[in-house]
Amino acid sequence: MSPAEFRRRGREVIDWIADYWERVETLPVLSPVTPGAVRDSLPPHPPAVGEPFEDVMRDLEQLILPGITHWQSPNFFAYFPANTSGPSVLGDLVSSGLGVQGMLWATSPACTELETLVLDWLGEMLDLPPQFHSTGSGGGVIQDSASSAALCALLAGRERATKGASNTQGADPRLVAYTSSQAHSSIEKAVKIAGLGSDKLRLIAVDANFALRPEALAAQLEADLAAGLLPCFVCATVGTTSSNAMDPLPAIGRLCRDHHVWLHVDAAMSGTAALCPEFRGIQAGLALADSYCFDPHKWMFTNFDCNCFYVADRRALVSALSVLPEYLRNQATESGAVIDYRDWHVPLGRRFRALKLWLVIRHYGVHGLQQLIREHVHLAQEFAQWVQADPRFELAAPAPLNLVCFRMRADDDANQQLLERLNQSGALYLTHTRLDGRFTLRFCVGQTQTERRHVQAAWARIQEGAGR
Ligand code: PLP
Repeated sequence: MSPAEFRRRGREVIDWIADYWERVETLPVLSPVTPGAVRDSLPPHPPAVGEPFEDVMRDLEQLILPGITHWQSPNFFAYFPANTSGPSVLGDLVSSGLGVQGMLWATSPACTELETLVLDWLGEMLDLPPQFHSTGSGGGVIQDSASSAALCALLAGRERATKGASNTQGADPRLVAYTSSQAHSSIEKAVKIAGLGSDKLRLIAVDANFALRPEALAAQLEADLAAGLLPCFVCATVGTTSSNAMDPLPAIGRLCRDHHVWLHVDAAMSGTAALCPEFRGIQAGLALADSYCFDPHKWMFTNFDCNCFYVADRRALVSALSVLPEYLRNQATESGAVIDYRDWHVPLGRRFRALKLWLVIRHYGVHGLQQLIREHVHLAQEFAQWVQADPRFELAAPAPLNLVCFRMRADDDANQQLLERLNQSGALYLTHTRLDGRFTLRFCVGQTQTERRHVQAAWARIQEGAGR
C-alpha cells in the first residue's frame, strides 16, 4: 500500500469509525450471533492474491460487525467499562504508524521519555504519594493490563522476600501471598505463574461491605509465620470487580510494613476516580504501598491496552526482572542515566502506548477528565437512588462510585431471568455477580457517550422487566 493509497483508505477508515460511533447507540449492545457463526461466514482459507480494499470493508460491515458486542455503546453497563475516545484512537494510530519498538531508551528515546513524563503527570493528577514519581525512588510504567502489573509486583515481592534466591533457585516453597476473597482472579493467576502455587494464596475474609478484614489478615500472617512460612505479597483492592469494595489501605499497609511484606494496590477501574479531589479518599493509605496500578483502558477514555503501574522502589522491580544479553548492550544503558522499560515488565518489546495517554490528557485537560468522571459517578448515584426508591428492588452492596449492585427482592432465578430478558432486548447490557451467595445485577456507568437519558432509559426497562 503506497503512502498515497494509505492516505485515501485511511480517510475511509476514520470515516467508518466516526460513523460507527455515531450509530453505535442504535445497534444491539450484546452481539446476538451464535458460536461459530462469524467464522463460518468467512472463507476458510487465506486469499492467494491480494483483494480490493472495498471487499475487506464490506466484510467488516456485513460479517464482522454483527459479531461485535458494542463496548462503546452508551447503553453498555456491563463488567467494568473499556471506554475509548477520539484522541486515544488517534494517538494509537500514530503509534502504529511510527511502529516504534521501545524496549530500550536507545531504541527510541522519545518513547521512553514521554512515557516517564506522562506517568509523572498522572501521578500529579491523581495525587499519588511522591515515592511513585520518577524523580524519587520509584516511577511508573505502562503495562498491557492490571493482570501483568500484579504479576510483576508479585515477582518483585517474591525476590525481595527471598533476597533474589527464587530467581536463581526456583520459587521458595515457603512463600505465601494474601488477598481478599473478593480480589480479581488475576491475583490467583499471578500466584500460579510466579511459582508459588494457588494453595499458597490466602483468600482473606471480608466484612459486610465486602472489604478485606485487616484483623483476619493479621491472624493469617501470624499463623503462617508461626508455621515457618514466608509471607511475600499482599494485594489490596481499591474497587473490587464484583461490588467496588474498597479495602482499608491504612490498616493493611501497617501490617505489611510490620511484616516486611510487599503491598500491591490494585485500583484497576476505580483509580481513575482519584482525578477528582472529592473521591481521593479511596486511596488514603497508599503511601504505605510498594506498588500501585490502575487501568486508563477501563475508565479514562484510553483504548485498551493501557495499565499504569507504579513502584515506590524501582530497583526492587528492575532487579527482579532484568536480564541483559550482549545484543542489547548499549552506551546509554551502561551509563545508568536512562530508563530501559524492558526491565519493568514481562515482554521485551513494547509499543509507544504513552502517545494515546498523552493525547487524551492534552485533549481533555485535567478539568475535562474530572468533569466526565464526576458525571459518571453522579449518574450511577442517581441510579442507586432510583433502585432504593422502588420497593421491588434493593441495593446489594454500597455504591461508592460508578458501580451499582442491586437485585429484585425475589429469588435468584427471577433475577437471572430479568437479566437475560434485558440483555436479549439488545437495548442495554448488564452483567451479574454473586454477593453473599445471591445472584446480583451490576450496573456500571463509564462509557464515553453515556448520558443521563441512557441511564434513565435503562432504569425504565429494568422496571418494566420487573413487571410494573
Ligand atoms: N483487577 C480488577 C479489580 C479488575 O476489575 C480487573 C478487570 O476487570 C483486573 C484486575 C484485570 O484487568 P486487566 O484486564 O487490565 O488485566
